[in-house]
Amino acid sequence: MSEEKETLNFIEHIIEEDLKTTHNKEGLCFRFPPEPNGYLHIGHASSICLNFGLGLKYNAPVNLRFDDTNPAKEEQRFVDAIKKDISFLGYSWTKECYASDYFQQLYDWALLLIKEGKAYVDSQSSEDIANQKGTPTTLGVAGPYRTRSVSENLDLFEQMKTGDAPEGAHVLRAKIDLESSNMLMRDPVIYRTLHKHHHRTGTDWKIFPMYDWTHGESDYIEQISHSFCTLEFLPHRELYDWFLDQLVDPVKLRPKQREFARRNLSHTLVSKRKLARLVEEGVVQSWDDPRMPTISGLRRRGYTAASIKNFAEGIGVGKRDNLIDVSRLEFSIREDLNKKANRVMAVLDPVKVIITNYPEGETEWLEAENNQEDPEAGHRQVPFSRELYIEKEDFREEANKKFFRLKLGKEVRLKNAYIIKAEGCVKDEDGNITEIHCSYDPKSKSGSGTQESLRKVKGTLHWVAIKEAIPVEVRLYDRLFTDPSPDTHKDKDFMDFVNPDSLTVITGYAEPSLKELAVEDTVQFQRLGYFTVDPETTEDEMVFNRTVSLRDSWARLAE
Ligand code: ATP
Ligand code: MG
Repeated sequence: MSEEKETLNFIEHIIEEDLKTTHNKEGLCFRFPPEPNGYLHIGHASSICLNFGLGLKYNAPVNLRFDDTNPAKEEQRFVDAIKKDISFLGYSWTKECYASDYFQQLYDWALLLIKEGKAYVDSQSSEDIANQKGTPTTLGVAGPYRTRSVSENLDLFEQMKTGDAPEGAHVLRAKIDLESSNMLMRDPVIYRTLHKHHHRTGTDWKIFPMYDWTHGESDYIEQISHSFCTLEFLPHRELYDWFLDQLVDPVKLRPKQREFARRNLSHTLVSKRKLARLVEEGVVQSWDDPRMPTISGLRRRGYTAASIKNFAEGIGVGKRDNLIDVSRLEFSIREDLNKKANRVMAVLDPVKVIITNYPEGETEWLEAENNQEDPEAGHRQVPFSRELYIEKEDFREEANKKFFRLKLGKEVRLKNAYIIKAEGCVKDEDGNITEIHCSYDPKSKSGSGTQESLRKVKGTLHWVAIKEAIPVEVRLYDRLFTDPSPDTHKDKDFMDFVNPDSLTVITGYAEPSLKELAVEDTVQFQRLGYFTVDPETTEDEMVFNRTVSLRDSWARLAE
């Protein structure tokens, strides 16, 4: 029991305390409230795991609520992508809600405020409003429209609503306190006019509620017991409370808002707005480009739901913003794929090997273990013949004792196959090696039980038989940004730090068993990394994304 207590995070502590004092278990209700203005990213995964995780832990409902108050930025395709991503992570929501479903209620409440003299239509420009609000160190002053009569306010608000007033001519502001130390309380705008098509309400509305006027009330309407959001919303709490104080029955449950720290990941961005720029300006191809830190980009890259959840749970919820190194995410996917991914052979930078004592035209099929980490994974057959590919870097004419790969006069084992010895090589006029001539030991076949098959040689290489190999397109990814926090530099745009080499496309050669794979399947190319079948794969050509290398190559560079 005491052990379990220690592992509670601060959010869970809050709930446990509330269950002892103000709340009962049946009344718990959570929500995840994305704005459908882009795809979900790895930062959102933290919030998803937190809220849906609490739902599972307390057996409480979790609503998926789209905060769709800005038709200028929001689209149905983003709604669809968000739902797909949450489902992919393995969570299901209790109710699918939309702030736009509450537009009528929010409007009625706005009328109530106007009638009580707590809201007014302001016809100043946005610059004038900003000036008149003051700054954190200077007080705000009343603008010329603050004293408009209730009837004039009702009349103008009606014109805003019907579209009779030109777009942008007026806003509706709550009348709170222009001298508050909290800038958000200085008569915040709660409605604006926008003559734009909304993805759900079409052209019904010409006025749209501001996020602040919507969020707390939406939580209240859904009777959310605990509304968890990121730290920047801390000063908004006072405002949300003020709104509810004016509007609703105090007996009903008030959502309790608490804040946790935003999760940032190094060498990338976690902001839909900034990620949208990468798509719009063509730095990446799409929101689900495998270089993107979006959930859909990660999925296409080969990240499993388990690896994303383990990552999010591992970093936990905190009270202070911090930057998580991307190598932590990479660790998480390696750990998961090591257990799950079948091992196969592919050569990405080939050089030809000729086994001079192996019969021409012959192919034999050798048995290969799929995954030594998974006894259920079984075996497959790989073809072996006289002409093979190995990686260029696995051969040297001469090398020191530490080079355990192929060198002239020395032996290595070919994985799942025979021991070979390099006898000579052929070069082109520029001195590049074009062929390596080897002999093989016919008695050394892996798994054949002969003494020679057990013979130990230093070094095992992966390879493919040329005749049966399938050419595959391989997309190698590097970090999207060269700087750990590209969007934190004062005088520089994050675009200045885009890594020009974040994508390299090559042709590799793979064993024929890969033809059986389906889109999104992941395998380990032995000694090279994990690779996932991309949706752009066709009948004619398979396309693989490198999910992650086998080791953290950046850490190795730093050593
Ligand atoms: P973005 O700037 O990327 O659009 P946002 O906060 O505006 O982020 P929302 O769609 O409003 O995006 O976010 C939905 C929920 O996810 C909110 O409760 C928000 O606090 C949370 N969230 C967003 N980004 C992060 C992050 N980096 N770490 C943790 N939670 C996040
Ligand atoms: Mg937001």
